[in-house]
Amino acid sequence: MRPLLFAANWKMHIGPEDARAYFKTFRTRYQRHEGREAWFFPPALSVETAAQAVRERADMLVGVQDIYWEPKGAFTGAISAPLAVQAGARAALVGHSERRHVFGETDEDTRRKVAAALAADLAPVLCVGEKLAERDAGHTLAVVNRQLAGALGGLDAATLARITIAYEPVWAIGTGRNATPNDAAAVHKEIRAWLVARGAARTRILYGGSVNLKNAADLLAEHELDGVLVGGASLDPEAWAQLVQTAAA
Ligand code: PEP
Repeated sequence: MRPLLFAANWKMHIGPEDARAYFKTFRTRYQRHEGREAWFFPPALSVETAAQAVRERADMLVGVQDIYWEPKGAFTGAISAPLAVQAGARAALVGHSERRHVFGETDEDTRRKVAAALAADLAPVLCVGEKLAERDAGHTLAVVNRQLAGALGGLDAATLARITIAYEPVWAIGTGRNATPNDAAAVHKEIRAWLVARGAARTRILYGGSVNLKNAADLLAEHELDGVLVGGASLDPEAWAQLVQTAAA
C-alpha cells in the first residue's frame, strides 16, 4: 500500500510567525494516522520555522514551492535545492501551474528542477495538468504525457520511485471547480500506465484542484488517488486538520 499523502500548498500566505501558530493548532488537532502523511509547502521564508515545528513528527515534512536548478551563484531572488535543504526542506514542488503559467516555466525548466531536487535529496512533487482550452480540445492526455516526458523522460525506475506526481487540471486550481472522481481517475490511470511502463509502480499520484472538506472523501474513495495537493483549503489549520483526519476515514 502506498501511504496516503495530504500535501498543503500555502502559496504566498503564512509568514514565519503565523506558521508557528498554525502548527501549534494543527499538531494538537491532527493525531497521527497509520498510513497517512501530511506534507507542507510554505513560502520559502517560513520553511525553517515550519520544519522546526514538525521535526518530532515522522508523518509530517516540509518542502519548498519552487527551486532554481543551479546549486549556487548570482541568481538574485532564487532559491537552490541545497539552500532549501539547509533550511529544513525535504521536498520541492516542481512545475506548479502557477509557475508554468504565471512565471512562464517550460518543460525543460521542470526537467532541470527535478534533477536539481534529486541531486540535493529533496523529494520532487511534479505537478502536471491541462488548461481548460486543452481539455475542451480533447488534448488532456497529450498535454500530461508531454509534461511527464519533458520532466521525467530518461529517469530509471529507482529514480522515478523517489518522485511524486500531482495531477492538477489548471481549470480546477483556485476556481472552486474540481474534476469529478471519475475525471481525475481517468487521467491518474494514464499517468500510472506511463510510470508502470518504466517500472515505477510505487510512485504516488495526487490530485489537486479546489479540493476541500466537502469533496475530499469522494475523491479519495477513488483508488487511483494516492492523496491530494491542496491550496486554499489548507490555509486554516483547524479545517486542514479535519480534512486530513477524516477525508479517508
Ligand atoms: C494548488 O495550489 O496546488 C491547488 C490545488 O490550489 P487550490 O486547492 O486552492 O485549488
